[in-house]
Amino acid sequence: MPDGRSFYLTTPIFYVNDVPHIGHAYTEVAADVMTRWHRQAGDDTWLLTGTDEHGQKILRTATANGASPKEWTDRLVETAWKPLLETIDIANDDFIRTTDERHERRVKLFIEKLREAGHIYEAEYEGLYCVGCEEFKPESEIVEGAGEYAGQKVCAIHGRPLELLQEKNYFFRMSAFQQQLLDLYKSQPDFVQPESARNEVVAFVSQGLNDLSISRSSFDWGIPIPWDEKHVLYVWVDALLNYATAIGYGEDDEQFQRRWPARHIVGKDILRFHAVIWPAMLLAAGLPVPAGVFGHGWLLVGGEKMSKSKLTGIAPNEITDTFGSDAFRYYFMRAISFGQDGSFSWEDLAARYQAELANGFGNLASRVIAMVKRYFDGVVPQPVADEAADLAVQTTVGAAALEADAAMERFAIHDALAAVWKIVDALNGYITEQEPWALAKDEATRDRLATVLYTATEGLRALAVLLSPVLTKATPKLWSALGVEDSLGALPEQPLRAAGEWGQLKPGTVVGELEPLFPRIEAV
Ligand SMILES: [Zn+2]
Repeated sequence: MPDGRSFYLTTPIFYVNDVPHIGHAYTEVAADVMTRWHRQAGDDTWLLTGTDEHGQKILRTATANGASPKEWTDRLVETAWKPLLETIDIANDDFIRTTDERHERRVKLFIEKLREAGHIYEAEYEGLYCVGCEEFKPESEIVEGAGEYAGQKVCAIHGRPLELLQEKNYFFRMSAFQQQLLDLYKSQPDFVQPESARNEVVAFVSQGLNDLSISRSSFDWGIPIPWDEKHVLYVWVDALLNYATAIGYGEDDEQFQRRWPARHIVGKDILRFHAVIWPAMLLAAGLPVPAGVFGHGWLLVGGEKMSKSKLTGIAPNEITDTFGSDAFRYYFMRAISFGQDGSFSWEDLAARYQAELANGFGNLASRVIAMVKRYFDGVVPQPVADEAADLAVQTTVGAAALEADAAMERFAIHDALAAVWKIVDALNGYITEQEPWALAKDEATRDRLATVLYTATEGLRALAVLLSPVLTKATPKLWSALGVEDSLGALPEQPLRAAGEWGQLKPGTVVGELEPLFPRIEAV
């Protein structure tokens, strides 16, 4: 029986100014695979994603495009960001926009609370600001410009000149939380993952923390500070709060208590916001810190981090139009160790599609179903006596299912898929060795043929369940061809954590048609 524990996972909310590229889709797919896994396992699951819509950069782009910021963000959300989720088949439970009224109301409640608790004060501030980062830059991230920016201070990340801003601002007393944060990283060693990300965060906080400027008064595209409406809230504080406001912070206590704390998947470039500023804000508000923050690596194309400005951005539908969403999801989860940087290449994608999805898994499924039809009139046979080879398949299935679940618990999606693929490889080897087509030629080996085809079909049953969080289009087709009546997503009929238990497919089940799961693709 599933334990029904809460599993609340978030993606970063995406800055609407960008057009979605495969880096964004990668983050979404990872979060979706993890939540589908937990949902199928019977956990009380919630996947949140959404868009970050305030700030000076968006105001400037909207103005340059002759639109109001709200018109601009509405347009991008509807034409770019929500369609992305369909392109790669994301089953999110909620989509929050920082321009949602629910978000703005609850953000105001949160910062009022910080102010009442004495964590916010007013002061003069002067600093070098990067509009690209939407951040006053620390010394360590300011470099001397070169070329057209010679003689100017530029952002180490964006390579663009910084702006000297002087404002009367409200500050969050973040410096007061240095020790509590260091204690947190110590008492909860997996609070920041992977290890390399954790070390970086600990080193950063150990140097000491500055207070954080949380308001701007030079523009008005943001959430007004409730006690001083000439100021708008700093866009990062506004954005981080989405994880709490979406589940009802301040207004729907039941939902908030049920879901919180979240686990956050973020790109490593925004790790510091999530692993330092965000838990400090929560500590200040007297709320539990997140259950964990996982910083994944960058996708590299031709050795460079992908971004639109570097012209290496690839739109997800360039891949899905040819290979389909299953191949997209499988490729990025399998080929890249989650947490490390990884390289994308069309050649690698095409090779894995052909070798692993089409030949390895798709072909296996269609051969087995076809043999049940040919030799047993489409009825799954009763196994007769298990031999060593059959028992070895059963052991592989049981062990792979446990190994995959343990890998998912530590965010190692690539290891989970590699574990499940041991079943694919074992079944392919088993069929080659057992030669059911030879057994079928002799009535004397009819019992043996029944056992072999039952073993192969039951193996497919386990694969359909274990691969359902990743191959969301192919596995329901296989499930229906296996003749199982309850839907693949139905719980508790197919709890994922029991997927490796042998013998769930009933002999006598009638198999159906299986269309090719991964059709041949002509040269790209
Ligand atoms: Zn920058």
